Amino acid sequence: MQDVVEKVYEQVVARNHGEAEFHQAVREVLESLGPVIAKHPHYAEDGLLERIVEPERQIMFRVPWVDDAGAVHVNRGFRIEFNSALGPYKGGLRFHPSVNAGIIKFLGFEQIFKNALTGQGIGGGKGGSDFDPHGRSDAEVMRFCQSFMTELSRHIGPNTDVPAGDIGVGGREIGYLFGQYKRLRNSYDAGVLTGKGLAWGGSLARTQATGYGTVLFAQSMLATKGDSLEGKRVAVSGAGNVAIYAIEKAQQLGAKPITFSDSSGYVVDEAGVDLELLKQVKEVERGRVADYASRRPGARLVTEGRPWDVPVDVALPCATQNELDADSATTLLRNGCAVVAEGANMPSTPEAIEAFHAAGILYAPGKASNAGGVATSALEMEQNAGRTRWDFATAEAKLTGIMADIHDSCVEAAETYGRPGDYVLGANAAGFTRVADVMIAHGIV
Ligand code: GLU
Repeated sequence: MQDVVEKVYEQVVARNHGEAEFHQAVREVLESLGPVIAKHPHYAEDGLLERIVEPERQIMFRVPWVDDAGAVHVNRGFRIEFNSALGPYKGGLRFHPSVNAGIIKFLGFEQIFKNALTGQGIGGGKGGSDFDPHGRSDAEVMRFCQSFMTELSRHIGPNTDVPAGDIGVGGREIGYLFGQYKRLRNSYDAGVLTGKGLAWGGSLARTQATGYGTVLFAQSMLATKGDSLEGKRVAVSGAGNVAIYAIEKAQQLGAKPITFSDSSGYVVDEAGVDLELLKQVKEVERGRVADYASRRPGARLVTEGRPWDVPVDVALPCATQNELDADSATTLLRNGCAVVAEGANMPSTPEAIEAFHAAGILYAPGKASNAGGVATSALEMEQNAGRTRWDFATAEAKLTGIMADIHDSCVEAAETYGRPGDYVLGANAAGFTRVADVMIAHGIV
């Protein structure tokens, strides 16, 4: 790391004690900025780097709720409003027991650059809670969401901060959150949340967008080598929204996804994933991947190791942060995997990324390849503001165009700063310069 960025990094570590994932996300961005600052030293002036790593606002609050048996629970709620240079804070809410300030901060920091890459005028934010929706009844989830929104509603608004879903927050949760917001404000502000139901302001293609976008990005990377996804074996991790629709788009483009996973293990289905069954198990029944394996002849559930142990041409990590480590990267590379596109946020460890770069394979960081989700959220906001509704084909065509633009911006920035084919440098440099230019225009705020 260059001296100037090294100092900023050390300050981040000292000031954000114990927040390892946040340190990791900041380090990756700052490392990419070496060549950018060497070429344009003004980006290191006026405390710009110091300002960009410090959230504009952090909100932490108590979320008390009562379970079906009458017992009181207390969870912790978070919203980090990281950067509003380009537009209202935008980013999802994650409900998962692993959530803490450091996790939300890393996600919010990534979101700044991801959102800038979409070119849609959205700032960066993120929130969530250590609440675990698994095994909770609909009534319990509703009471939790109502309590969470009772505090969150003071801080958000269609022109201020626009949350959406992430791990543990889907259509059901967004519904309960929106209902409570509307009741508290006595105002039908459709644009205050995205990922809404289609009957009350949601956008067609939002559900599919993150997974579709990740696969479209992989296809664009392959196209730079005159190749395509046609006939490729694909390993997918996760079995949530991102994984399911990554599998769907990969199948549409002629590839063969053969794995998916959750905390009960991973499934290998050599015949190719039966998407209808997977949707039935995960979306309708809210079941486990083990239920798929027990109903699908020829599929097997593996409870040791990771989907990355299966020989494939393409890997799509769509589960969670740091799910793909150096050992998994080595296994993937040994088996001939030549493309990794991240559907999750920061799923590859720094050591895994180093291995991908050393091997010279096509590797896309999540802030570029999974930006289709938030991009389509911005399309939802656009439809809400215009009180209009587009058909699926229109929304999907816009998503496809945005993903192609993000891909090309990354390629161009990587070339400009002397590391052609380095999508990490490309994404960080392109995202950073867009935010930094506007921060400079706005003065020291
Ligand atoms: N949680 C998603 C992400 O990581 C989507 C955020 C949004 O739509 O605001 O980008």
